[in-house]
Amino acid sequence: MTERYVMALDQGTTSSRAILFDRRGRMRGSAQHDLHQIYPQPGWVEHDPREIASSQFGVMIEAMVSGRVSPDEIDSIGITNQRETTIMWDRRTGEPICNAIVWQCRRTAGMVERLCGDPDTAALVRAKTGLVPDAYFSASKIKWMLDNVEGARAAAEEGRLAFGTVDSWLIWCLTNGTVHATDVTNASRTMLFDIHEGRWDDELLELFDIPASVLPEVRPSSANFGVTAYPGLPAGIPIRGVAGDQQAALFGQCCFSAGRAKNTYGTGCFLLMHTGERAVDSSHGLVTTIAASAPGTRGFEYALEGSVFVAGALIQWLRDELGIIESAEESEALARTVADSAGVYVVPAFTGLGAPYWDAQARGALFGLTRGTGRAHIARAAIESLAFQVADVARTMERDARMEIDRLDVDGGASANDLLMQFQADILGAAIDRPAITESTALGAAFLAGLSTGFWSGLEEVAALRSGGRRFLPAMDEAERAERMAGWHDAVGRTLSSR
Ligand code: ADP
Repeated sequence: MTERYVMALDQGTTSSRAILFDRRGRMRGSAQHDLHQIYPQPGWVEHDPREIASSQFGVMIEAMVSGRVSPDEIDSIGITNQRETTIMWDRRTGEPICNAIVWQCRRTAGMVERLCGDPDTAALVRAKTGLVPDAYFSASKIKWMLDNVEGARAAAEEGRLAFGTVDSWLIWCLTNGTVHATDVTNASRTMLFDIHEGRWDDELLELFDIPASVLPEVRPSSANFGVTAYPGLPAGIPIRGVAGDQQAALFGQCCFSAGRAKNTYGTGCFLLMHTGERAVDSSHGLVTTIAASAPGTRGFEYALEGSVFVAGALIQWLRDELGIIESAEESEALARTVADSAGVYVVPAFTGLGAPYWDAQARGALFGLTRGTGRAHIARAAIESLAFQVADVARTMERDARMEIDRLDVDGGASANDLLMQFQADILGAAIDRPAITESTALGAAFLAGLSTGFWSGLEEVAALRSGGRRFLPAMDEAERAERMAGWHDAVGRTLSSR
């Protein structure tokens, strides 16, 4: 029997990637293209939807060539994507009506403030969608397009326009315009989807003045999304898995049950905790979101989500602005030249502080300097600040969910830093589990697809693939942990704008 593969398409904010996985979860061929960022005005961010599709098509082929895998060896496709980014296109021609408005784009901040600013509306949005109203999410971006692109609203009223997050757009393109669908995890980031009832919400559609005719059909994450049919691409490959990037990573980390949590250490951090069938309402500004589920799951599964704004970006800052390291990897070697941070704390509140502080006016600071402080202490304190911030979010989640995190599954660029991983274990008092394959996002999309077709038999089989890697166990005693956390909180307290 010939080997077969699942292809993961990972359409991220900065790149389009494709990875082929075999049944044992090993990578066989991959490819990546960078994506152009378009900044038409300060605070605005756009992508070209055609480039999103064509770069994704390109890497599909390149991954097959690099792995020497032929189309008939591909069992299925799983898609994972940058979330919230909004695209609208003409259903007849397939032409986008304008550039994609990227999740980071702030152009609709004023609109969201106007429409959702009063506490009752904010509470309504929160109760239905699990989200704190923000320009991030798709709803206001759709309204912006309808209000600002010439002819858009009329076309939408006539049922000629389609809206999609990036997954929907790719499904539409790959199936050559035959399927207009999204999955529950992506729908839960639009701010138009009732995450308890599992349907588009009329009241929210009315609030944002969006006709229901533009919306995609919502399917489970591990389900049938049609087959590839785009001219020039291999035809007939089933699309069977779809999830937003963070939910795909949670699934790829095999966090399938309540209490399991993952953190991705990238430019920022994304921490997600599975809360089972319970949608936990956060009292600390975390968001409640739908988690990806295995096929056949009844009802929905949920996760709490929190983020750290500045994580790997701080390491970049050490490199690019302070110039005390030449590469991100070097931060670890430099930090290891000293035994500890000697009382230095870095609070990287470059853009304010998120959960649990929520202080947009806070600014970064460096504390505890003495004549003996050197660049190694600063590097060490910077690395530690990533772990402190993650611990703050994790503790907040534990309080909201009334569940303990005794193990955290990690991935992302900075998870390669062993010093950071050990300090994270120490400061969290929990095991840190770093799998051998840290491509959790792509792996999650592949799992969702392969579970849907029967390529993998079930969750037990895929969980067994998550082997190897390294586990970091806490080695710090309780008193020292409390003292270090207190030092951190003292430093954070001094950066808050209310002081
Ligand atoms: P993103 O997906 O957000 O672009 P990645 O997962 O690719 O991020 O991770 C890149 C980030 O991780 C960069 O901000 C970089 O500074 C940081 N990083 C990479 N390697 C290390 C390391 N060994 N130690 C600390 N930080 C690192």
